[in-house]
Amino acid sequence: MLLTSLLLLACAVPQQDTLTPAARRVLADVRWLADDAREGRGVGTAGLAAAGQYVADGLRAAGARPGGAAGSYFQNFVIDPSAPGAMHSNTGGDTTRNVVAVLRGTSLPGEVVVVGAHYDHLGRGGFGALDDPDSTGKIHNGADDNASGTAAVMEIARRLAGSRHARTIVLLAFSGEELGDLGSEYFVKHPLVEPVDSIYAMVNLDMVGRLRNEKLLASGAATAKEFPALLDSLNRTADGHFDLRASGDGWGPSDHASFYAAKRPVLFFFTDLHEDYHKSTDDWQKINAAGLARVAAFAGDAVLALANRPAPLTFVDAPQPQTSMGGAGYGAYLGTIPDMSESPGGVRISGVRAASPAEKAGLQSGDVITAIGAKTVANLYDMTDALRAHQPGDTVTIVVQRAGARLTLTAVLGKRGG
Ligand SMILES: [Zn+2]
Repeated sequence: MLLTSLLLLACAVPQQDTLTPAARRVLADVRWLADDAREGRGVGTAGLAAAGQYVADGLRAAGARPGGAAGSYFQNFVIDPSAPGAMHSNTGGDTTRNVVAVLRGTSLPGEVVVVGAHYDHLGRGGFGALDDPDSTGKIHNGADDNASGTAAVMEIARRLAGSRHARTIVLLAFSGEELGDLGSEYFVKHPLVEPVDSIYAMVNLDMVGRLRNEKLLASGAATAKEFPALLDSLNRTADGHFDLRASGDGWGPSDHASFYAAKRPVLFFFTDLHEDYHKSTDDWQKINAAGLARVAAFAGDAVLALANRPAPLTFVDAPQPQTSMGGAGYGAYLGTIPDMSESPGGVRISGVRAASPAEKAGLQSGDVITAIGAKTVANLYDMTDALRAHQPGDTVTIVVQRAGARLTLTAVLGKRGG
């Protein structure tokens, strides 16, 4: 037995011994979904097909009824070849599927609370991966992104299947998220419940497996006037007691944005970024199973409260931030590790990859990047755009704030894997 295997056993066994039944269940689901045999759950792989069947079987076992086409748990859709993610990943024209299940409401069955999570991931890297370029070809298991949210949706189904609720609860596992929220966009256009306005609210779980210091982000809390008070009161119950950061509009890099674009109130639960984000090292051994089970319980409570709340929600609209995704290939590689825990008017980095362009340029942990080349960088989207606008080999200036001073560094950008 290899030393690394021994170390993994030493880490995994004590954690399992002390876990609650719910934590064991979510960990088992994450392990299955994030196993190498699932091939990183890339669109078009047998691994993703098997994962979809696993989720459907789990939802059926929980007692949820089929919500897909022709009495099935599946909603098929074709990846639009003109979607930027499809062009870069060669998946245009592939058929993939959302998993859809239903817990029918009692008194308001025509109104729907959606709880969803994407179950696809990056496959073997390439488009969307943030590793060193040479990691393309390695399986990207996506244990946190987003086996964790998928496992949470399955646990929410088990938790809520026996409960009474006025509105119908639709449980969704989306495909095509990593290619640009394609599954959720398709669902919003073909919502199975018409019109889309009958969706009372949408709750999204994406990357909820790394709870640290009790910090739980609830983005979208500003999309309905009633959300902050509702979340606050839920956080005082036995399933709460998080350091809950509830704020923000409904835009952002995951499936809730598709529902917000259709002017539905949304909540997005997230245990924050980490250094394994979109890397081949996002593995099940790093999942906080107890924390994941608690987030699932809390999100389930939120779904149930929404499904039973008598009054309408007061939707709050906000303009979509400017981005210009796509068109420029993979973009260039810098090698920073972003830290999204706060937004200090730029992108704070928690580190740089060894021998990366970022390290060679002199970027350091704690730097806040405020501009790359001609582009101002206010957030991670801007940074992605700025890198996509350049080609490998380009020399760019990078403006950073470091300890109150403004520095201008020069980087020669590298090539992303592909
Ligand atoms: Zn992702």
